[in-house]
Amino acid sequence: EAKSNGRNLYKFYEPAMNERIMERRQLEMDMRQALRRREFRLDFQPRYDAASQTIVGAEALVRWQHPSRGLLSPGVFIPLAEETGLIVELSDWVLNEACLNALCWGPELMVSVNLSPVEFQRSDLVDRVGAVLEQTGIAPSRLELEITESVMLEDAASALTTMNRLKALGIRLSMDDFGTGYSSLSYLRSYPFDGIKIDRSFIAGLDQSDSSEAIVNAIVSMGHALSLTVTAEGIETVAQLGKLTDLACDQAQGFYLGRPMAPLLFQQVLRDSNGVEPEGTLAFAGE
Ligand code: C2E
Ligand code: MG
Ligand code: MG
Ligand code: MG
Repeated sequence: EAKSNGRNLYKFYEPAMNERIMERRQLEMDMRQALRRREFRLDFQPRYDAASQTIVGAEALVRWQHPSRGLLSPGVFIPLAEETGLIVELSDWVLNEACLNALCWGPELMVSVNLSPVEFQRSDLVDRVGAVLEQTGIAPSRLELEITESVMLEDAASALTTMNRLKALGIRLSMDDFGTGYSSLSYLRSYPFDGIKIDRSFIAGLDQSDSSEAIVNAIVSMGHALSLTVTAEGIETVAQLGKLTDLACDQAQGFYLGRPMAPLLFQQVLRDSNGVEPEGTLAFAGE
Protein backbone atom coordinates (compact mmCIF):
# COMPACT_ATOMS: atom_id res chain seq x y z
CA GLU A 1 0.00 0.00 0.00
CA ALA A 2 1.24 3.46 -0.87
CA LYS A 3 0.78 4.76 2.65
CA SER A 4 3.18 2.20 4.11
CA ASN A 5 5.95 3.16 1.75
CA GLY A 6 6.70 6.85 1.36
CA ARG A 7 9.30 6.23 -1.30
CA ASN A 8 6.86 4.41 -3.54
CA LEU A 9 4.30 7.12 -3.05
CA TYR A 10 6.82 9.72 -4.14
CA LYS A 11 7.80 7.74 -7.21
CA PHE A 12 4.17 7.13 -8.07
CA TYR A 13 3.24 10.82 -8.03
CA GLU A 14 6.43 12.28 -9.45
CA PRO A 15 5.73 11.79 -13.17
CA ALA A 16 2.21 13.18 -12.91
CA MET A 17 3.39 16.24 -11.00
CA ASN A 18 6.21 16.88 -13.40
CA GLU A 19 3.77 16.67 -16.24
CA ARG A 20 1.55 19.25 -14.65
CA ILE A 21 4.48 21.57 -14.01
CA MET A 22 5.74 21.15 -17.55
CA GLU A 23 2.30 21.84 -18.90
CA ARG A 24 2.04 25.01 -16.86
CA ARG A 25 5.47 26.15 -18.02
CA GLN A 26 4.48 25.51 -21.60
CA LEU A 27 1.27 27.44 -21.19
CA GLU A 28 3.21 30.29 -19.59
CA MET A 29 5.64 30.43 -22.51
CA ASP A 30 2.73 30.26 -24.93
CA MET A 31 1.09 33.17 -23.15
CA ARG A 32 4.17 35.33 -23.48
CA GLN A 33 3.89 34.97 -27.24
CA ALA A 34 0.12 35.04 -27.45
CA LEU A 35 -0.16 38.80 -27.19
CA ARG A 36 2.31 39.37 -29.99
CA ARG A 37 0.61 36.73 -32.09
CA ARG A 38 -2.80 38.29 -31.46
CA GLU A 39 -4.27 35.10 -30.05
CA PHE A 40 -6.37 36.85 -27.42
CA ARG A 41 -9.75 38.20 -28.31
CA LEU A 42 -12.65 39.85 -26.58
CA ASP A 43 -16.24 38.78 -26.54
CA PHE A 44 -18.88 41.25 -25.46
CA GLN A 45 -21.93 40.33 -23.42
CA PRO A 46 -24.77 42.84 -23.69
CA ARG A 47 -26.08 44.51 -20.59
CA TYR A 48 -29.72 45.54 -20.62
CA ASP A 49 -31.86 48.08 -18.85
CA ALA A 50 -34.23 45.69 -17.07
CA ALA A 51 -37.40 47.73 -17.46
CA SER A 52 -37.10 48.82 -21.11
CA GLN A 53 -34.93 45.91 -22.22
CA THR A 54 -32.69 48.13 -24.28
CA ILE A 55 -28.96 47.58 -24.37
CA VAL A 56 -27.09 50.00 -22.11
CA GLY A 57 -23.62 48.57 -22.55
CA ALA A 58 -21.54 45.43 -22.66
CA GLU A 59 -19.01 43.54 -20.57
CA ALA A 60 -15.71 42.62 -22.18
CA LEU A 61 -14.73 38.99 -21.57
CA VAL A 62 -11.32 37.79 -22.73
CA ARG A 63 -10.69 34.51 -24.57
CA TRP A 64 -7.52 32.88 -25.80
CA GLN A 65 -7.54 31.19 -29.18
CA HIS A 66 -4.67 28.82 -28.46
CA PRO A 67 -3.01 27.42 -31.59
CA SER A 68 -3.20 23.79 -30.44
CA ARG A 69 -5.52 23.71 -27.43
CA GLY A 70 -8.41 25.56 -28.99
CA LEU A 71 -10.44 28.26 -27.35
CA LEU A 72 -9.47 28.75 -23.70
CA SER A 73 -11.72 30.49 -21.20
CA PRO A 74 -10.41 33.07 -18.72
CA GLY A 75 -10.88 30.66 -15.83
CA VAL A 76 -8.02 28.62 -17.31
CA PHE A 77 -5.44 31.29 -18.05
CA ILE A 78 -6.22 34.34 -15.88
CA PRO A 79 -4.89 32.64 -12.71
CA LEU A 80 -1.69 31.78 -14.56
CA ALA A 81 -1.42 35.32 -15.89
CA GLU A 82 -1.82 36.59 -12.33
CA GLU A 83 0.93 34.36 -11.01
CA THR A 84 3.39 35.26 -13.73
CA GLY A 85 2.65 38.98 -13.82
CA LEU A 86 1.57 38.73 -17.45
CA ILE A 87 -1.82 39.95 -16.28
CA VAL A 88 -0.62 43.55 -16.58
CA GLU A 89 0.28 43.27 -20.25
CA LEU A 90 -2.87 41.27 -20.96
CA SER A 91 -5.03 43.72 -19.08
CA ASP A 92 -3.54 46.70 -20.94
CA TRP A 93 -4.55 45.02 -24.15
CA VAL A 94 -8.04 44.21 -22.84
CA LEU A 95 -8.64 47.76 -21.62
CA ASN A 96 -7.48 49.31 -24.85
CA GLU A 97 -9.39 46.90 -27.05
CA ALA A 98 -12.57 47.25 -24.99
CA CYS A 99 -12.48 51.06 -25.19
CA LEU A 100 -11.77 51.04 -28.95
CA ASN A 101 -14.76 48.78 -29.44
CA ALA A 102 -17.00 50.99 -27.33
CA LEU A 103 -16.19 53.91 -29.62
CA CYS A 104 -18.02 51.98 -32.36
CA TRP A 105 -21.20 51.74 -30.31
CA GLY A 106 -22.28 55.35 -30.48
CA PRO A 107 -21.66 58.04 -27.87
CA GLU A 108 -23.38 56.64 -24.81
CA LEU A 109 -23.05 52.92 -24.21
CA MET A 110 -21.02 51.68 -21.25
CA VAL A 111 -18.19 49.22 -21.50
CA SER A 112 -17.26 47.08 -18.48
CA VAL A 113 -13.85 45.55 -17.97
CA ASN A 114 -12.91 43.04 -15.27
CA LEU A 115 -9.85 43.81 -13.20
CA SER A 116 -7.77 41.27 -11.36
CA PRO A 117 -7.02 41.78 -7.65
CA VAL A 118 -3.35 41.36 -8.53
CA GLU A 119 -3.47 44.55 -10.57
CA PHE A 120 -4.70 46.43 -7.53
CA GLN A 121 -1.52 45.61 -5.67
CA ARG A 122 0.57 47.38 -8.29
CA SER A 123 1.24 51.08 -8.06
CA ASP A 124 0.86 51.72 -11.79
CA LEU A 125 -2.82 50.72 -12.17
CA VAL A 126 -4.25 54.24 -12.12
CA ASP A 127 -1.67 55.53 -14.59
CA ARG A 128 -2.35 52.61 -16.91
CA VAL A 129 -6.09 53.25 -16.90
CA GLY A 130 -5.48 56.96 -17.40
CA ALA A 131 -3.22 56.23 -20.36
CA VAL A 132 -5.87 54.06 -22.03
CA LEU A 133 -8.49 56.79 -21.59
CA GLU A 134 -6.16 59.31 -23.15
CA GLN A 135 -5.00 57.09 -26.02
CA THR A 136 -8.47 55.96 -27.03
CA GLY A 137 -10.23 59.25 -26.32
CA ILE A 138 -13.25 57.51 -24.82
CA ALA A 139 -15.33 59.53 -22.34
CA PRO A 140 -14.18 58.27 -18.92
CA SER A 141 -17.79 58.04 -17.71
CA ARG A 142 -18.37 55.26 -20.26
CA LEU A 143 -15.79 52.95 -18.73
CA GLU A 144 -16.70 50.76 -15.79
CA LEU A 145 -14.20 48.59 -13.98
CA GLU A 146 -15.52 45.47 -12.25
CA ILE A 147 -13.68 44.35 -9.17
CA THR A 148 -14.34 41.64 -6.64
CA GLU A 149 -14.32 41.79 -2.91
CA SER A 150 -10.94 40.08 -2.73
CA VAL A 151 -9.41 43.42 -3.74
CA MET A 152 -10.44 44.88 -0.38
CA LEU A 153 -9.40 41.75 1.48
CA GLU A 154 -5.81 41.99 0.24
CA ASP A 155 -5.08 45.47 1.53
CA ALA A 156 -8.11 47.49 2.51
CA ALA A 157 -6.34 50.83 2.95
CA SER A 158 -4.42 50.89 -0.30
CA ALA A 159 -7.46 49.56 -2.17
CA LEU A 160 -9.41 52.59 -0.96
CA THR A 161 -6.68 54.98 -2.12
CA THR A 162 -6.49 53.31 -5.52
CA MET A 163 -10.26 53.32 -5.93
CA ASN A 164 -10.50 57.01 -5.06
CA ARG A 165 -7.81 57.79 -7.61
CA LEU A 166 -9.64 55.72 -10.24
CA LYS A 167 -12.84 57.59 -9.45
CA ALA A 168 -10.95 60.86 -9.91
CA LEU A 169 -10.33 59.81 -13.53
CA GLY A 170 -14.10 59.95 -14.01
CA ILE A 171 -14.73 56.23 -14.52
CA ARG A 172 -17.27 53.99 -12.77
CA LEU A 173 -16.55 51.16 -10.35
CA SER A 174 -18.72 48.17 -9.64
CA MET A 175 -18.45 45.21 -7.33
CA ASP A 176 -18.66 41.94 -9.24
CA ASP A 177 -20.05 38.65 -7.89
CA PHE A 178 -21.81 40.56 -5.12
CA GLY A 179 -23.00 38.46 -2.20
CA THR A 180 -20.48 35.65 -2.51
CA GLY A 181 -18.02 37.14 -0.04
CA TYR A 182 -18.74 37.49 3.63
CA SER A 183 -18.26 41.22 4.13
CA SER A 184 -19.63 42.66 0.92
CA LEU A 185 -22.07 44.88 2.78
CA SER A 186 -19.59 46.77 4.87
CA TYR A 187 -17.41 47.45 1.83
CA LEU A 188 -20.22 49.21 0.03
CA ARG A 189 -20.41 51.82 2.75
CA SER A 190 -16.74 52.74 2.77
CA TYR A 191 -15.65 52.36 -0.85
CA PRO A 192 -16.62 54.53 -3.83
CA PHE A 193 -18.70 52.01 -5.77
CA ASP A 194 -21.24 53.09 -8.39
CA GLY A 195 -22.84 49.71 -8.84
CA ILE A 196 -23.09 46.10 -7.77
CA LYS A 197 -23.56 42.96 -9.80
CA ILE A 198 -25.56 40.33 -7.98
CA ASP A 199 -23.79 37.00 -8.29
CA ARG A 200 -25.50 34.56 -10.58
CA SER A 201 -25.86 31.91 -7.88
CA PHE A 202 -28.67 34.03 -6.39
CA ILE A 203 -30.30 34.48 -9.79
CA ALA A 204 -30.24 30.73 -10.41
CA GLY A 205 -31.86 30.27 -7.00
CA LEU A 206 -34.81 32.45 -7.99
CA ASP A 207 -36.35 29.48 -9.78
CA GLN A 208 -36.26 27.25 -6.73
CA SER A 209 -36.21 28.99 -3.42
CA ASP A 210 -38.00 31.78 -1.65
CA SER A 211 -34.81 32.57 0.22
CA SER A 212 -33.02 33.61 -2.97
CA GLU A 213 -35.87 35.93 -3.81
CA ALA A 214 -35.69 37.45 -0.33
CA ILE A 215 -31.94 37.93 -0.68
CA VAL A 216 -32.17 39.49 -4.13
CA ASN A 217 -34.96 41.75 -2.89
CA ALA A 218 -32.80 42.85 0.03
CA ILE A 219 -29.75 43.47 -2.18
CA VAL A 220 -31.77 45.60 -4.60
CA SER A 221 -33.33 47.66 -1.79
CA MET A 222 -30.04 48.17 -0.07
CA GLY A 223 -28.28 49.02 -3.34
CA HIS A 224 -30.89 51.64 -4.11
CA ALA A 225 -30.69 53.06 -0.59
CA LEU A 226 -26.98 53.58 -1.26
CA SER A 227 -27.68 55.07 -4.73
CA LEU A 228 -26.01 52.17 -6.50
CA THR A 229 -26.94 50.74 -9.88
CA VAL A 230 -27.95 47.13 -9.31
CA THR A 231 -27.27 44.61 -12.06
CA ALA A 232 -28.27 40.97 -12.05
CA GLU A 233 -25.92 38.60 -13.87
CA GLY A 234 -26.55 35.09 -15.11
CA ILE A 235 -30.18 35.43 -16.16
CA GLU A 236 -31.02 32.26 -18.04
CA THR A 237 -34.83 32.19 -18.09
CA VAL A 238 -37.71 34.51 -18.80
CA ALA A 239 -39.05 33.73 -15.33
CA GLN A 240 -35.86 35.00 -13.71
CA LEU A 241 -35.99 38.16 -15.79
CA GLY A 242 -39.62 38.70 -14.80
CA LYS A 243 -38.84 38.36 -11.11
CA LEU A 244 -35.91 40.75 -11.34
CA THR A 245 -38.03 43.33 -13.10
CA ASP A 246 -40.66 42.93 -10.38
CA LEU A 247 -37.98 43.45 -7.76
CA ALA A 248 -36.96 46.71 -9.54
CA CYS A 249 -33.46 45.53 -10.39
CA ASP A 250 -31.91 48.17 -12.70
CA GLN A 251 -29.92 46.16 -15.20
CA ALA A 252 -29.81 42.60 -16.45
CA GLN A 253 -27.25 40.36 -18.07
CA GLY A 254 -27.30 36.67 -18.93
CA PHE A 255 -27.56 33.96 -21.55
CA TYR A 256 -31.33 34.49 -21.84
CA LEU A 257 -30.77 38.08 -22.98
CA GLY A 258 -27.51 37.61 -24.82
CA ARG A 259 -24.43 35.43 -24.68
CA PRO A 260 -20.92 36.81 -24.82
CA MET A 261 -20.32 37.36 -28.55
CA ALA A 262 -17.77 38.53 -31.07
CA PRO A 263 -17.45 42.33 -31.48
CA LEU A 264 -19.06 42.49 -34.92
CA LEU A 265 -21.97 40.35 -33.80
CA PHE A 266 -22.51 42.63 -30.83
CA GLN A 267 -22.63 45.62 -33.17
CA GLN A 268 -25.24 43.78 -35.22
CA VAL A 269 -27.33 42.98 -32.13
CA LEU A 270 -27.05 46.60 -31.09
CA ARG A 271 -28.32 47.81 -34.46
CA ASP A 272 -31.20 45.35 -34.41
CA SER A 273 -32.34 45.98 -30.85
CA ASN A 274 -31.66 49.65 -30.20
CA GLY A 275 -31.72 50.94 -33.75
CA VAL A 276 -28.35 52.56 -33.11
CA GLU A 277 -26.11 53.10 -36.09
CA PRO A 278 -22.55 52.39 -34.99
CA GLU A 279 -20.17 55.24 -35.74
CA GLY A 280 -17.44 53.18 -37.33
CA THR A 281 -16.21 49.70 -37.96
CA LEU A 282 -13.75 47.71 -35.95
CA ALA A 283 -11.03 48.08 -38.54
CA PHE A 284 -11.52 51.81 -38.59
CA ALA A 285 -11.37 52.10 -34.80
CA GLY A 286 -8.24 50.02 -34.63
CA GLU A 287 -6.26 52.29 -36.91
P1 C2E B 1 -17.46 37.53 -14.40
O1 C2E B 1 -16.87 38.87 -14.55
O2 C2E B 1 -18.37 37.33 -13.25
O3 C2E B 1 -18.19 37.24 -15.79
C1 C2E B 1 -19.37 36.50 -15.93
C2 C2E B 1 -19.12 35.09 -16.40
O4 C2E B 1 -20.36 34.41 -16.42
C3 C2E B 1 -18.56 34.98 -17.81
O5 C2E B 1 -17.77 33.80 -17.91
C4 C2E B 1 -19.84 34.81 -18.64
O6 C2E B 1 -19.62 34.16 -19.87
C5 C2E B 1 -20.67 33.96 -17.72
N1 C2E B 1 -22.10 34.14 -17.92
C6 C2E B 1 -22.76 35.24 -18.37
N2 C2E B 1 -24.09 35.02 -18.41
C7 C2E B 1 -24.30 33.77 -17.97
C8 C2E B 1 -25.47 32.95 -17.79
O7 C2E B 1 -26.61 33.35 -18.04
N3 C2E B 1 -25.27 31.69 -17.31
C9 C2E B 1 -24.03 31.21 -17.02
N4 C2E B 1 -23.93 29.95 -16.57
N5 C2E B 1 -22.91 31.95 -17.18
C10 C2E B 1 -23.03 33.21 -17.64
P2 C2E B 1 -16.31 33.83 -18.53
O8 C2E B 1 -16.31 34.64 -19.80
O9 C2E B 1 -15.82 32.42 -18.60
O10 C2E B 1 -15.46 34.64 -17.46
C11 C2E B 1 -15.23 34.11 -16.19
C12 C2E B 1 -14.53 35.11 -15.30
O11 C2E B 1 -13.22 35.41 -15.80
C13 C2E B 1 -15.23 36.46 -15.22
O12 C2E B 1 -16.30 36.41 -14.30
C14 C2E B 1 -14.10 37.36 -14.77
O13 C2E B 1 -13.95 37.28 -13.38
C15 C2E B 1 -12.89 36.71 -15.44
N6 C2E B 1 -12.52 37.49 -16.63
C16 C2E B 1 -13.07 37.48 -17.87
N7 C2E B 1 -12.45 38.37 -18.69
C17 C2E B 1 -11.49 38.96 -17.94
C18 C2E B 1 -10.49 39.98 -18.21
O14 C2E B 1 -10.39 40.54 -19.30
N8 C2E B 1 -9.66 40.30 -17.17
C19 C2E B 1 -9.76 39.73 -15.93
N9 C2E B 1 -8.89 40.12 -14.96
N10 C2E B 1 -10.67 38.78 -15.65
C20 C2E B 1 -11.53 38.41 -16.64
MG1 MG C 1 -17.57 40.72 -14.49
MG1 MG D 1 -19.60 38.14 -12.03
MG1 MG E 1 -16.27 36.41 -11.49
